[in-house]
Amino acid sequence: LISDNLAWVKAQIAEAAQKVGRDPKNIRLIAVSKTVPEEKIIAAQKAGAELFGENRVQEALKKISHLGQDGFGWHFIGHLQKNKVKDVVGRFDLIHSVDSVALARVIDAKSQALGQSTRILIQVNVSGEASKFGIAPEELETTLRAIGKMKGIRVEGLMTIPPYDPDLEKSRKVFSRLRELRDHMAGLSIEGISLKELSMGMSHDFKVAVEEGATLVRVGTAIFGDRPPVEE
Ligand SMILES: *Cc1c(COP(=O)(O)O)cnc(C)c1O
Repeated sequence: LISDNLAWVKAQIAEAAQKVGRDPKNIRLIAVSKTVPEEKIIAAQKAGAELFGENRVQEALKKISHLGQDGFGWHFIGHLQKNKVKDVVGRFDLIHSVDSVALARVIDAKSQALGQSTRILIQVNVSGEASKFGIAPEELETTLRAIGKMKGIRVEGLMTIPPYDPDLEKSRKVFSRLRELRDHMAGLSIEGISLKELSMGMSHDFKVAVEEGATLVRVGTAIFGDRPPVEE
């Protein structure tokens, strides 16, 4: 049952937080609802889920238009193409996956045109995996300095997706590296940049992510069950 799964995930988050002396209140759970039908999203919301993560623009827009933005906080967590930015700005509470200055520029322009400012995280490719999107750690400072100047964007933190590895200690290294990068960048006090959020951890590794400082965990399968195969 979705409500049981949700309760289990929340208990695991609390346990991991307590283990390292963190307040579980500082960790927000995003129920990753990509491919999940609306009835199940409603069931999760009734059971107490407040934030929902989607990675496909068209699918997400349909759900948002049916379910609304009241009581459902929508987070965009997938790779975002520049030509889809116009559909995303104003509809999501947070975009987790900004992975280039060029993409940020398009988001900035659209947001300013609407008189809004869009909250984003910068996706960092901590592990340097060729197939993954994200900014290289060496380019993070320059990227933050460029995006910090954009009036239509509020950077609130960093996000990462480690390569899948059943060995959780491998994921832990990626998570702790993201935290160190964040601490280092925060120490530079770059204008226009806040780095309070660390979006990291999925169904199989969210506990270690919480132990390493995650403030947002993105959990799909452990809440909604297996998704149909084949997705990027
Ligand atoms: C699908 C997805 C998740 C959730 O993955 P699960 O293993 O189902 O928890 C988290 N983050 C991103 C970016 C995703 O695309």
